[in-house]
Formats: sequence, structure tokens, C-alpha cells
Amino acid sequence: MKLLIAADMEGISGIVNWDQVTPGHAEYMTRGRKLMTDDVNAAIQGAFESGVDEVIVSDGHWNANNILIEELDSRAKLNTGSPSPFSMMQGIDDNPPPDAVMFVGYHGMLGTKKAILDHTWSSVRIRALYLNDQLVGEIGLNSYVAGHYNVPVIALTGDQHACEEAQNFIGAALEIAVVKNATGRFAAQCLPLAESRHKICEAASRAVLKLREKKAPASKKISTPVRIAVEFMNTQHADRAYLIPGTERISGTRIEYTAPDMIVAVRAFRAMATISVD
Ligand SMILES: [Zn+2]
Repeated sequence: MKLLIAADMEGISGIVNWDQVTPGHAEYMTRGRKLMTDDVNAAIQGAFESGVDEVIVSDGHWNANNILIEELDSRAKLNTGSPSPFSMMQGIDDNPPPDAVMFVGYHGMLGTKKAILDHTWSSVRIRALYLNDQLVGEIGLNSYVAGHYNVPVIALTGDQHACEEAQNFIGAALEIAVVKNATGRFAAQCLPLAESRHKICEAASRAVLKLREKKAPASKKISTPVRIAVEFMNTQHADRAYLIPGTERISGTRIEYTAPDMIVAVRAFRAMATISVD
């Protein structure tokens, strides 16, 4: 059994502000990267305890150069560096494909009340993302990418709101590990790290057992074609995104695009997010 661990940083144990997740910052260099690596290690540990044969980790935050490979569990391979074809979901099209995905260190979509570092792909450019009129954050977006390959998402770690968003989107069968209780965008009560890692390890282990027992969530399939709508923060972002052929300018800040499937949809979304840089 092969597992893909898709890791982000905002939902990692102990993380509460941008300094801790922004390359160049002392907090990021000395603490954030290690905290992320250790959360991922806890998930790897739990997965192997339940008999997974192979673990691929995809570093999905910023430029995907966060996880310290020197300190990563030596049983896991690491997808790192950017841009890669699938970004946060790099490895989803491997041959053979993974049997399941776990999201580690995930966060709520932009606008979630009292959720640590809530955003949707870009905290400065993107206000909202809709797929076939459904409002989604990175949890929904990446779950549908996995669903294109019939791969289920079986566990998620983050604050209480990321976990709630994921269970609402994927279903109650999703295993979760709440590692901090957010009390604002930049404030949370964080568990002691040992307890946090124990929860992550246990959630990963239970998720793999559920998968074996065919009790894990089903993969998330989106109907095709996929209509993407991106609500940008400002009009100049939409001015730039509209340079992409085939996009439609719906309003000052809203761009839409129809893709034949989820893979083209996520490529179009990433292109819009990238080209709309200030
Ligand atoms: Zn991130």
C-alpha cells in the first residue's frame, strides 16, 4: 500500500502567524521548518505502524522547500521544489498511483472565522474560489485533484476549523487530528508537541486501518466540465488573470473559466494565481 502525504504549513503544531511560515524569517528558519518536519514524521510513523509499504511526502507550502530532509523519516521519499506539475498534490499521478492521501498541516479557506492563517492559495490575491458553484479552499481543491485519479483523502491534521471544513467536505469517515484550537487568525491554544504528534500518529494509523477495512471516505469526484470562478482581492489581479486565453471577465474582480476536467481546472487556477502577482 502506497500513501501520499500532502503537507502544508499553516496547520502545523505550534504555528500561529505568517513569520513562522515565511521563508527568510528567523521564526521560519529556526522553528517553522522543524515543526513541520516533525508533524510529517508523526504521520509517517502512524502510517507504517498500520502496514503501509511506501510513503511519498509532498512539500506543498510556498516554494515547497520547507521540510528538512535530513530530519525526515528515512523510510519516506520527498517531493520538494517548485514549480512542479501538481504542486501541493505532486505525486498524485505516480505510476502506480497512491492508494490514499493524507493532508498534514492544512488550514481553513479564506474567511473562516477564527481559523489560523485562513486563506485560499494566496492570502493577498484570492478572496474566493468556486468549482461548479461550490465554494472551496485548498482542502476542497486538492481533494478533487485526488478524486480525478480515484484516490481518497483519508486523514487531515490542522486546527479545529480545518478539520471541520474537511469533515464537512469529505465526510465523517475522515480521520482528523486537531493540533490547536484557534481563537483568532493569529492566535490559538496549542497542544504540547508530544501530545500533538501522538494525535497525528494515531489519526494516520486509524486512517490506514479504515482504508484496509473499506471504511475510509470515498474519493471526491467533481462533475465535468469544471467551471472555475475566482474572486480576486483587487481589480488589477483580474486584469492580469484575464490575459489567459479562454478566461471570461465576469466583473471587476471575478474571472471564470470552463475546463474539460479537474486537472485542466487546477492548471488554469494555478495559472491565474501565478499570473495575477502584483
Ligand atoms: Zn501553506
